[in-house]
Amino acid sequence: MRTHVWSIPMRHRFRGITVREGVLLEGPGGWGEWSPFLEYAPEIAAPWLRCAVEAANGGWPAPVRDRVPVNVTVPAVDAERAHAIVTAGGCATAKVKVAEPGQTLADDLARVEAVRDALGPGGRIRIDVNGLWGVDTATTSIPLVDRAAGGLEYVEQPCADVEDLARVRRRVDVPVAADESIRRAEDPYRVRDLEAADVAVLKVQPLGGVRACLRIAEEIGLPVVVSSALESSVGIAAGVALAAALPELPYACGLATVQMFTDDLVTRSLLPVEGHLPVGPVEVDPQALTRLAAPADRRAHWEQRLALVAERLPDVGQDLSS
Ligand SMILES: [Mg+2]
Repeated sequence: MRTHVWSIPMRHRFRGITVREGVLLEGPGGWGEWSPFLEYAPEIAAPWLRCAVEAANGGWPAPVRDRVPVNVTVPAVDAERAHAIVTAGGCATAKVKVAEPGQTLADDLARVEAVRDALGPGGRIRIDVNGLWGVDTATTSIPLVDRAAGGLEYVEQPCADVEDLARVRRRVDVPVAADESIRRAEDPYRVRDLEAADVAVLKVQPLGGVRACLRIAEEIGLPVVVSSALESSVGIAAGVALAAALPELPYACGLATVQMFTDDLVTRSLLPVEGHLPVGPVEVDPQALTRLAAPADRRAHWEQRLALVAERLPDVGQDLSS
């Protein structure tokens, strides 16, 4: 498979990074994206590579829908800005960040009220705590946010620990979603066994690809929200393929993140239209590959990293070197 190392500046700092980097694999069946975050050790980056090789070999399971609903994401901004983001987003579901350090619950309540106002009564609101509340804070805050929001569809990762998620889930009426608690392949089963969540957020790269995620979804028996790991449209297409193949998709997905990049690798970016992403292959733009090619030192870094991680996956090593 041919490899193309790319580097794309982000619009705003996110997750502590201002430039996103990764590798595109050009394979016999299409394109795959391998973009594990820079700090990830080889054993963590290995399933990400499995996902990319699966995509480049082609043959994702057949879709059962031709478009996938997505949410607009509202960062921890003031109410007025939150209202404007939701209105501009054109999505029927909003994910609202809360519990931002330095802010108060009153800020969160004002934000979700503004989001409800922008969405109207038919819209759906979920909040994402990113694990920042303790059990007691979560237990008292969630009902208040639920009321201010005029009803929440779920609260994502109210606490950091999966044991605490389970505790909160037993104390509040709002459904709980596990996101950060699901990072490695064994995690979804732990969430299931502890009955820690009502909804599982799955990301195709960290969990080893579309087929691996379909298997997980079937085995854990929880509704799934497919979310991005901050990929270019090539990586997002894998998430869309998973969302398109799931037998049930009761919630909007967190796949509308390409707009956080200043540029993209494809001819038509996977940006939401009327709150949905289209299902189907993306077309890599050769000019974009040139324009966004990483500098030589970064290319060398990624090639070396790829070789190191591929060593751990003898079964895909052959595909990679073909
Ligand atoms: Mg989250």
